[in-house]
Amino acid sequence: MDNLIKGDKHYWEMVIGLEVHAQVKSNSKLFSSSSTKFGSSPNSQVSLVDAAMPGMLPVINKYCVEQAVKTGIGLNAKINNYSVFDRKNYFYADLPQGYQISQYKYPIVGEGKVTIDFKDGTSKDIRIVRLHLEQDAGKSLHDQNPSKTYVDLNRSGVALMEIVSEPDIRTPEEAGMYISKIRSILMYLDTCDGNMQEGSLRADVNISVRKPGEEYGTRCEIKNLNSIKFIKQAINYEAKRQIEILESGGTIEQNTMLFNTATGKTRPMRNKEEAHDYRYFPDPDLLPLKIPEDDIKLIQSSIPELPDDLKNKFIETFKLSNYDASVLTAEKQTSDYFNDAINSDPDLKNFPKIIVNWITSELFSLLNKNNLDLKNSPVSAKNLGQLVKLITSNEISGKIGKDVLEEMFTSRKSAREIVNEKGLKQVTDQGEIEKVIEKVISENSKMVQEYLGGKDKLLGFFVGQAMKETKGKANPKILNDILKSKLIKKN
Ligand code: ADP
Ligand code: MG
Repeated sequence: MDNLIKGDKHYWEMVIGLEVHAQVKSNSKLFSSSSTKFGSSPNSQVSLVDAAMPGMLPVINKYCVEQAVKTGIGLNAKINNYSVFDRKNYFYADLPQGYQISQYKYPIVGEGKVTIDFKDGTSKDIRIVRLHLEQDAGKSLHDQNPSKTYVDLNRSGVALMEIVSEPDIRTPEEAGMYISKIRSILMYLDTCDGNMQEGSLRADVNISVRKPGEEYGTRCEIKNLNSIKFIKQAINYEAKRQIEILESGGTIEQNTMLFNTATGKTRPMRNKEEAHDYRYFPDPDLLPLKIPEDDIKLIQSSIPELPDDLKNKFIETFKLSNYDASVLTAEKQTSDYFNDAINSDPDLKNFPKIIVNWITSELFSLLNKNNLDLKNSPVSAKNLGQLVKLITSNEISGKIGKDVLEEMFTSRKSAREIVNEKGLKQVTDQGEIEKVIEKVISENSKMVQEYLGGKDKLLGFFVGQAMKETKGKANPKILNDILKSKLIKKN
């Protein structure tokens, strides 16, 4: 039931399917030898083919084809030995050919699936319909001149993989997890750099709503979303919009929508076009693509360990939960970091879960706050391992550990250095703690009477006072034990 949203009159379920556009990681374009480098000066990477000069002929880039096959294998999908490039005709200023070379009836990759893992330990498969190769268009720049639109063709002809899912997704969170998983797989495969900010990975989101158990409703498609946050926002907004229309007796028009990132709202861009509007036909300049089984086998043998394999290995080796293991393996840099941390000290092998927590909650939140990535983390894996070792060996408390981590983050010093410099070592000396407790008891005799009179809750107060007295350094267990024994003795 928690997948449902409540309208004014009914409960509704979202039905979502994603078309992910992933830029193929390749030095040159799909049908020309121009560079694909991001951020170069406008129109500096445009060959005569990319500019669609008359008489130019496309030549297929073998490497891009191999990258698509690799990706298909990584998505557990069927690789088609035979595929065809078609012309998808439409008119737009940043599309000099007047058509996009894409694949329609015969895509290079067929049905596959991707697994997403939930916090509660369950998983779900999202089915992939297909993956096809196509050219990217150029870019229209509307904000360079008040009265003109400029066109930059650097992106024109860059290879894209369009990965189409079945409408198996039911919530904005699932949509986010699905695209994260795709991104993760592609990055492990090294077939896409996964950079959503630069637009290397973006998605069109199809969404409809229905009453549970009913047939799928009419969908709208929200174009070109390049962050997971926007994908979720757009889905939420669009679902609400559709529910309001349906509950007031209206019908949904199948529109293509744009999402305004500033207002968080969607608005219609155009009526949904049908395939026949594009007048698809096989590109006469290109032969059908035939990939022999042996070539596919060769590519198969080059596939590296993928996130799901690594996840299962982590579950087995470290007895981690499915969810923890999936978070750790989502990005290769995270699993590498974890490996480096846990291998930095032999004793740490016994505390994998604690290391996971320090990485995925404490360190990640510091990185987030500072807009940093794990690969430029000021805290090295080895130093994080050392911090966890100090905690698990009871030299410092977990609470002080958090302060130490923050200090490590800003000063780049090691945990040991900070603990020594600031004298943060946990006090485990019985006698020393006893002294502190006696002081607290004698200074709060009224409270002590109340506690002994049955006000159990006051124990926390004494613990707090004693902790304050030791600047948080007392070992909590020893402190509690002594405190309880002292307070009973008085009775
Ligand atoms: P088109 O070729 O017109 O884009 P497709 O059938 O290929 O249409 O579907 C495009 C995307 O829309 C797919 O990701 C699919 O999962 C999704 N989709 C199809 N029907 C629905 C629906 N009723 N609600 C939400 N998404 C849908
Ligand atoms: Mg489509």
